[in-house]
Amino acid sequence: MTWRMRAAVLRATGAPLTIEEVSVPVLGRGQVLVRMQLAAVCHSQKLEVSGARGPDRFLPHLIGHEGVGIVEEVGPGVAKVQPGEQVILSWIRGSGTAADPIQYQSSQGPVHAGPVAVFCEMPVVSEQCVTRLHPAIKPEAAVLAGCALPTGAGTILSMSPTDPQGAVCIIGAGGVGLAAVCGAVLAGWPMIVAVDLRVARLERAKALGATHVIPAGAEPFERAARELTRGAGFDVVVECAGARSSMEAAVRLAKPRGGRTVIVGNLPMGETIQVNPFDLIAGRSLWGSWGGNVAPDTDLPRMARWAQEGRVPSSLLLGDRFPLTAVNEALASLDSEEPGRPVLDCAAPIPQRSAASSAREMAPA
Ligand SMILES: [Zn+2]
Repeated sequence: MTWRMRAAVLRATGAPLTIEEVSVPVLGRGQVLVRMQLAAVCHSQKLEVSGARGPDRFLPHLIGHEGVGIVEEVGPGVAKVQPGEQVILSWIRGSGTAADPIQYQSSQGPVHAGPVAVFCEMPVVSEQCVTRLHPAIKPEAAVLAGCALPTGAGTILSMSPTDPQGAVCIIGAGGVGLAAVCGAVLAGWPMIVAVDLRVARLERAKALGATHVIPAGAEPFERAARELTRGAGFDVVVECAGARSSMEAAVRLAKPRGGRTVIVGNLPMGETIQVNPFDLIAGRSLWGSWGGNVAPDTDLPRMARWAQEGRVPSSLLLGDRFPLTAVNEALASLDSEEPGRPVLDCAAPIPQRSAASSAREMAPA
């Protein structure tokens, strides 16, 4: 039995995604078939679709790396999850098999996918990219546990001492930056400064617990941020904006002798930043963050639980909700005034013929 599903396909960079019906391959070793509930849209997909990541040798392919769904089937050797279990889908790989790349079939030929690609109804993903979730956790609470929460909150938490004193600065208040504000609140930082170009995002950062916000508009924000610390600089600076100038400012804003700057945002392929070596000699350090340095098997479900319990107010982290068919609008909304990370409703439609029938009956190949 093969399945058919709708998927957003990237056929050419710089062009909109196309919604197509594809057939799902028979599961191979370490592969998991998931019935999607929700997926979230992040800046990585925008870079990918625009071609800013350089030549794409995998076209045509599926995209999307964060979501939540229910396991439908498991391939040989999969022990981590079972059919019927709710799972977080994430690009941050945990335990389990690294499965071979997936190939779907469309009317125009093969369509590729990496270990996880979730802008579709029923993705096949690598066992490493799923993490079991308690069935009581709502999809809305879990949907950001695959990227935004670990990358944002996880990064700040991993850089925070117990009982922190001092100040953190979060540059960029998109989905990851807002999650970083939540992480700073959870860690207990007394001063949490958020910087962004858009007023609505700064208001959202305040609602999430930022103690100060700075609009990064016409005036350079660097001086205003430094003044908030009376010139001392920040203990931790997290750059989530993905802009060269703010990455360079982020290094300078860390306090000498111990301040740490973490680069989380990404630049188009080929762009680089400049750092004055003396800024590092003065005792600042420059870090990167691979998904917040989390241990996915334990940390991702924990973060979903925080959202479910309201310790992380997920309703304030989520942006507009779009059907899968409006995926291009969802991507475009990343640049809108609307704060929060856009969410895609990827659930397959309920079959019309029989209330009890499944998608298998609805769409056999
Ligand atoms: Zn992401």
